[in-house]
Amino acid sequence: MKNFDLIVIGAGAAGLFCAGVAGQLGKKVLVIDHAKVLGEKIRISGGGRCNFTNLNTTHQHFLSMNPHFVKSALAQFSSHDFIELVKKYQIPFHEKHQGQLFCDESAKDIIQLLLKECELGHVEILNPVAVEKVEPMDGLWNISTKDTDYVAKNLVIATGGLPVPAIGASDFALQIAKQLDIAVVEPKAALVPLAFTSQIFSAIEDFAGLSTKVHISAGKAKERYGFGQFDEDLLITHKGLSGPAVLQASSYWSEGEAIHVAWVAKEKLENLLAQEDSRLKTVDNLLIEFLPARLAKEFAKQLGIHGKKWAEVAKKTRQALVDLLCEWNVKPAGTLGWNKAEVMLGGIDTKELDSKTLMSRRYPGLFFIGECVDVTGHLGGHNFQWAWSSAYVCANNLIL
Ligand SMILES: Cc1cc2nc3c(=O)[nH]c(=O)nc-3n(C[C@H](O)[C@H](O)[C@H](O)COP(=O)(O)OP(=O)(O)OC[C@H]3O[C@@H](n4cnc5c(N)ncnc54)[C@H](O)[C@@H]3O)c2cc1C
Repeated sequence: MKNFDLIVIGAGAAGLFCAGVAGQLGKKVLVIDHAKVLGEKIRISGGGRCNFTNLNTTHQHFLSMNPHFVKSALAQFSSHDFIELVKKYQIPFHEKHQGQLFCDESAKDIIQLLLKECELGHVEILNPVAVEKVEPMDGLWNISTKDTDYVAKNLVIATGGLPVPAIGASDFALQIAKQLDIAVVEPKAALVPLAFTSQIFSAIEDFAGLSTKVHISAGKAKERYGFGQFDEDLLITHKGLSGPAVLQASSYWSEGEAIHVAWVAKEKLENLLAQEDSRLKTVDNLLIEFLPARLAKEFAKQLGIHGKKWAEVAKKTRQALVDLLCEWNVKPAGTLGWNKAEVMLGGIDTKELDSKTLMSRRYPGLFFIGECVDVTGHLGGHNFQWAWSSAYVCANNLIL
C-alpha cells in the first residue's frame, strides 16, 4: 500500500493541471489514467491547435442546472491566468474569432506544458493502469489497481465526459457517483452535429460542404438551460447540419424540438425586396446578396419562383419567401452521438459540490473537476477554461 496526499484519476486537461498545481504546492501527488497515450483529447482539440481558452469567458458561456456555479472558480483562476502560463512557456498563440485563443503550432504544446507542470511538482503518473475499486476508508480514500493499493486523504475524479470513447472516454465519474449515491444530471451529447431523417433540401448531396453565416436558436425547454441563440457559420453535410452554429445550438436542443434558422436578418431582406430596382431582378439574383448561389436557387425552387422576376411574384409567395428565409424551422431526428460530440451536457450535479473548492459536500476529500461536472461550455475555448479553473481551485483546497 502506497500513501499520497492526493490521488487524481484521469490525466486529461483538468487532472494534469490539478496534479501539477498541487504538486508545486508541496503535495505528494499520484495520477492514474487507463489510457496508453495521455492528453489525447487535448491533441485532437481545436483541429489540432487546441482552442485553450477564451478572452471573454464568463458564467454566461456555460450550461448548468446552476448557472452561477462556475462564477467562483472562474474568478479564482481566469482565462488571463492561464494565458500567463502559456506565455511563461513561450507557446505561440493567436486569437481567431470572438476571443478564441489557439496555439499557432500544435495542441501538443499544451500537453507538454501540463506534463512539465507535473514534473515541476514531482507528480507520479501511472498509465495505462485501470482503477478496480474506490473505497472510502477511515477518512482516507483507498484506490485499488490490479497490482497495488494506493491511499490518500484527497481523491480527485477528473475522468471527463462520454464523448469519443475511442480515445479513452468512460463513464467512470458517473459510476463513482452511483456507488456513493451522489446525484447526477442526466448526460447528453452536446456540441454535436444534428442528423435528419428526411431530406431537408431536394438533393442534400448538392449542398454538402456548403457553409454560410446564420442566426440560429434552439431550446424550447427553457426550464432546463434557457434559450441558446448564436450568429455563426452553418455547414451542410451529407448527414445533416453541422458547423459552429449547429454545434452551439445542439447544446440547447432537446429531442422532438425544432431548431430555428434565419438565413438572413428579416429587416435586411425586407429592405432589399422593397427597393425599386429589385423589381426587375430575378429572385435568385436578389438572394445571392445574402446566400450562396446554390442555396438561393434551392429556396427559389422550393417556392416555385426560380428564375422569376421579383415584380412577377404574388404577394402571398413573397411573404412565404420571407418566412422561409427568416424563420426556417427544421426538426432534427437526433444527434450524431458520442463519437462526434465535443462535450457532455450534465454529469455530477453541482448541488453535491462546493463551488469554491469543487469538494463533495458529503464526502470530505473527494473532488470532481472538469467535464464530468454538470458544467458545459459553449464552443470557443470555454470548456478548457472550465477544466483549468476547476482544477486550480481544487488543488488549492485539498484537506490536510
Ligand atoms: C474533437 C474535440 C475537440 C475539442 N476541442 C476543444 C477546444 O478546442 N476547446 C475547448 O475548450 N474544448 C474542446 N473540446 C472539449 C475538451 O476537450 C474537454 O472539455 C476537456 O478535455 C475536458 O477536460 P477533462 O480533463 O475534464 O477531461 P479529458 O480531457 O477528457 O480527460 C479525461 C481523462 O480521464 C481518463 N479516463 C477516463 N476514464 C478513465 C478511467 N476509467 N480510469 C482512468 N482514467 C480514465 C481519460 O483517458 C482522459 O485522459 C473538444 C473535445 C473534442 C472531443
